[in-house]
Amino acid sequence: MKFPQMPYTRPDVEEIKAKLTDLTARLKSSSSAEETFDIYKEYDDFNKHTMSMFNIASIRYTLDTTDKFYNEEQNFSIEAGPKLRAFEQSFFDALLESPFRADMEAEWGPILFTNREMASKTFSPEIVADLQEEGRLVKQYNELIASAQIEFDGKTLTLAQISPYYQNTCQDTRKAAIKASSAWYMERADKLDGIFDELVKVRTRIANKLGHDTFTQVGYYRMQRNSYDRNDVAKFRDGVVKYIVPIAARLKAEQAKRIGVDGTKLKIHDDSFQYPEGNAKPIGTPDDIFAHGKTMYHELSGETAEFIDFMMENDLFDVLTRPGKRSGGYCSSIPIYRAPFIFANFNGTSGDIDVLTHEAGHAFAGYVARDMYPSLLRRYSMETAEVHSMAMEFFTWPWMEGFFGDQTQKYYYSHLASALIFIPYGTMVDEFQHHIYDKPNMTPKERNNLWLELEAKYRPWLDLSDTPFYGEGRRWQGQSHIFGMPFYYIDYCIAQIMALSFWAQDQKDHDAAWAKYRRFLGFAGSKTFVQLIEDAGLPTPFEPNNLKDVADATVEWLNKA
Ligand code: ZN
Repeated sequence: MKFPQMPYTRPDVEEIKAKLTDLTARLKSSSSAEETFDIYKEYDDFNKHTMSMFNIASIRYTLDTTDKFYNEEQNFSIEAGPKLRAFEQSFFDALLESPFRADMEAEWGPILFTNREMASKTFSPEIVADLQEEGRLVKQYNELIASAQIEFDGKTLTLAQISPYYQNTCQDTRKAAIKASSAWYMERADKLDGIFDELVKVRTRIANKLGHDTFTQVGYYRMQRNSYDRNDVAKFRDGVVKYIVPIAARLKAEQAKRIGVDGTKLKIHDDSFQYPEGNAKPIGTPDDIFAHGKTMYHELSGETAEFIDFMMENDLFDVLTRPGKRSGGYCSSIPIYRAPFIFANFNGTSGDIDVLTHEAGHAFAGYVARDMYPSLLRRYSMETAEVHSMAMEFFTWPWMEGFFGDQTQKYYYSHLASALIFIPYGTMVDEFQHHIYDKPNMTPKERNNLWLELEAKYRPWLDLSDTPFYGEGRRWQGQSHIFGMPFYYIDYCIAQIMALSFWAQDQKDHDAAWAKYRRFLGFAGSKTFVQLIEDAGLPTPFEPNNLKDVADATVEWLNKA
């Protein structure tokens, strides 16, 4: 079914409560493994339907955050979701305590139970009001960001629409664009500080009620970190500081030289500008991009061909940017139609191609696992999801010429160099969040100063002095994950290392690398992240020396380019 035609009806909270109560009671009194399996199947089907309704409403709301109807539905879902958690929790408590648990584990493996034990540590009926408040604050942030209307270049632009100017070949234009968006943020600095401060407080309150001193461990549970802990992540960050930051600094120094900047540091308005004649830009209209995307997936494999046809036939993309549309990009799903959905904001830069490689990588992973049962085994953690998407960005390299024409070589170079340069930034976001939640009483000013210290540690090549938004350490306020999904960001960095490992193998033997990747996707969430990388024979990212090996292989290619 085409996405616009998918019917939506608001889930009936009372009906869901009654259904879950009934399923829980039957699960508790079940007298055989067979009966238990049947009850679970009934839950799975029922839940798929509820989830689909919530997801349809949420997608349609992000497509137009000013739409009255779906705005109300989004408010409904923020209030209803936490209320339903208690009923879902009771069902899973009964499942975890079931005398037939061993039968289920034998059939499905242990991970569903591990994950549910983790999920139950993130909820108690006492925190319903706090969860609702958290949801409202995140919505407030997203709407504030989506509401931006910046007068620039004779147009009224959203934040997504002004960002291509940061790569403009004229330095004055880049400067003016940075100045305009920074001014927008600065006018709302108190508001952004306030929303975030309230978020830190409500999350800390949630953690306290759940029996933790700080929010960090709850954040890890929420992210379903079932195979590594904060000490492993700290080891990863150490590896980044030791091995990736110096390489990134060298690449940035080369960029400064290439674009003719005096001195060793880059100003913010030169940071995204990689080539004197301009960055690689996609050629053609969005229709051309989609037409070539279709060819690309038809040639990549039989399965990707089937996938892209399904996506296009069912209008499962919304990529053009419009006022009121939420910023950024994501991939969601509508389980009852076995359909992924891709949301993006095209802006004429190489980022548009990521929609067809990165976001489509997520969607393809969802597509290959769409019939896996129980559905919960499809719920992988985010670092795994980002391996799916970031590796796909590299597996699709042979088709980049159709998107970039004679600028393809330039695209390869900046894709690979940016992949490395991104890692210090993402790791900084992670370290920032650890400090924030370890010390929840920091003032807004202390938070900004902390960000500045981390800038010096992770991105020493930047000169932030020109613009207050950057100079005062407020850059993090444009990073929506910090507001919306605490501790989600290191996932991108871990995944980038894994994706580069796939890339290095793909350079040597495409068929073997693709087969390995396809196998990785096939497990979906039925293995932990650490099990998945072991199965694929990929180096663990939690050993700093492995980061060095991956970075060296990448630099070797860049040096030859
Ligand atoms: Zn992604």
